[in-house]
Amino acid sequence: MDVLKLLPKTELHCHLDGSVRPKTMYELLLKEGIIEVNDFREFEELVMVKDDCKSLIEYLKKFQYPLSIMQKKENMERITYELLEDLNAQNVKYVEIRFAPYLHTKEGLSFEEVVESVLVGMERAKKDFGIWSNAVLICMRNERVEESIKVIKNGAKYIGKGVVAVDLAGNEQDFPPEIHQKAFNLAYDMGYNITIHAGETGIAENIPKSIELLHAQRIGHGIAAAKDPKVMELLKEKNIFLEMCPISNLQTKSVKSIEDYPIRKFLAKGLKVTVNTDNITVSNTSLEREYQLLMEKLDFTIEEVVGLIQNSIDAAFIKDNERDILRKKVDEELRNMELI
Ligand SMILES: [Zn+2]
Repeated sequence: MDVLKLLPKTELHCHLDGSVRPKTMYELLLKEGIIEVNDFREFEELVMVKDDCKSLIEYLKKFQYPLSIMQKKENMERITYELLEDLNAQNVKYVEIRFAPYLHTKEGLSFEEVVESVLVGMERAKKDFGIWSNAVLICMRNERVEESIKVIKNGAKYIGKGVVAVDLAGNEQDFPPEIHQKAFNLAYDMGYNITIHAGETGIAENIPKSIELLHAQRIGHGIAAAKDPKVMELLKEKNIFLEMCPISNLQTKSVKSIEDYPIRKFLAKGLKVTVNTDNITVSNTSLEREYQLLMEKLDFTIEEVVGLIQNSIDAAFIKDNERDILRKKVDEELRNMELI
């Protein structure tokens, strides 16, 4: 749909390792001898999920390939830069890119080298294309709390220099939020913004725990809130934004079908919803595809899509003066398209 292509967009939930440009991943995996495949199609089978994906656990297996090539400074910078080049071509005005620094230190890079390579890629893309981005540092749920504390302490020197927030991600079923409470208390005290993956795979109680114990201002996914009116009430009362990722949520079987997707229910309850891609490559998606799905299957109007974009501007981890600039830029294009 042309109008979706042209819309000025913002993206708040995008994993760097799940969004590597496929051709680059192919090139680097072959070059480093990590895969032996005969053609690009065979390669795509390895790195993208299909509709028959059974669970989040199966979905997460797709990340071993990009992570294996994201262990060098030049690759980290290139992958960041190319993602932003591609998003710029889709008229994304602002994006928050998230990654877990310690997953990129397996072959000798330091925490600082990982973070700085991403920040350099972001800076270079801003200069070349004008696209604005910030980084979110991920703590992994399956690691001990001490590892999360390391991410938070080491990352603090980059707050205000491209890093805006911390997140908790990974297997939510076996590693509940409270394990990392000490780390997120520290993050809160240090001035990070906080978003937490919670309620992605059915465990509603992880949502209030993330808000009350980990200081979450935004919740990644939050699907399970639909099962519990009290949780929806809490989200509303605390003005928490949801970062929903419809295509990824369908693939990981967070919901059975798009008809069961609770986005309309959340909007009707007055919750603040944003729509994002999660993993552009692994999920084979884009913001345009996400919006198209909502319009085709859940009868969203273009005005409702514009409302989701405006929610993303409200939810972005940026300063209020920056928010005004972003909103002005987006509104100007929307006005030219006669959408506001
Ligand atoms: Zn995610």
